[in-house]
Amino acid sequence: MAPLITTTVAATREAVAQAKGRGMRVGFVPTMGALHEGHASLIRAARAECGFVVVSIFVNPAQFGPQEDLARYPRPFEQDVALCAQAGVALVFHPQPQVIYPPGYKTRVEVRELQDVLCGTSRPGHFGGVATVVLKLFNIVQPDLAYFGQKDAQQARILEQMIEDLNLPVTMRICPIVRADDGLALSSRNVYLSVEERQHATVLFRALTDVHRRVDAGERSAAALTQCAADLVAGTPGARLDYAAVVDWRTLRTLDVVSGQVLIALAVYFGPTRLIDNVLLEVKD
Ligand code: AMP
Repeated sequence: MAPLITTTVAATREAVAQAKGRGMRVGFVPTMGALHEGHASLIRAARAECGFVVVSIFVNPAQFGPQEDLARYPRPFEQDVALCAQAGVALVFHPQPQVIYPPGYKTRVEVRELQDVLCGTSRPGHFGGVATVVLKLFNIVQPDLAYFGQKDAQQARILEQMIEDLNLPVTMRICPIVRADDGLALSSRNVYLSVEERQHATVLFRALTDVHRRVDAGERSAAALTQCAADLVAGTPGARLDYAAVVDWRTLRTLDVVSGQVLIALAVYFGPTRLIDNVLLEVKD
């Protein structure tokens, strides 16, 4: 069935209130659209535990830097609605930027420290923009559960911290990364890649797989592991490393020795296109 499409705060709240009035649990999947199988997996996870699933499609200007791809970010709205219909989404919230940021808008949410490392280094202000829009979307949709992808691991960690710090009445679920057959993590930005870049882009998954294998084999030096990943990227035509990092999952601080819940994260440029990927490991010694 086709989902209801809302563009205003009032209409969204009204539809959600009606669902709650009928005793339904509300699951929420925030997205920027250009939906793919990764988004579909979040929607399926939401459908499995919630009677009423809301997807937001909003390309959030506040999380793009001045030199980034806000204007050219793909916006295939009709295709997205078709995917939502297929996946059993009840409501698509599709606001215009002025609905979210009306004239005179002033407030911004910062999740200190966690926002400044990894992707925050090359994308200053990005996570403040993400936290701000997600808090607003939570206040508009008022979901019981919200679903995010491990693909954007730092984002998930920051939002988890925001939910805890601000006592938000939302339960967060983090869902596994969905990949193409050759290992490349699905991303709306993959469409920017040329045929050759697309082939070489598997280096992120290959590097993470290699690092994972080395950890399994007993390597505990974070520096040695990041160097291996960096070398693989350096040997790949068209690839330029932004960062390779081995960090503690909770603090996102760089580790010397791999131990506990460890996030291994990579960001690699192909031309102007920046791809990210990661693996979360539990290392017991
Ligand atoms: P985006 O539309 O890129 O802002 O992503 C919306 C949500 O989908 C975020 O929670 C992402 O982490 C998640 N997501 C994006 N790509 C994937 C993927 N390949 N696997 C799992 N989740 C994903």
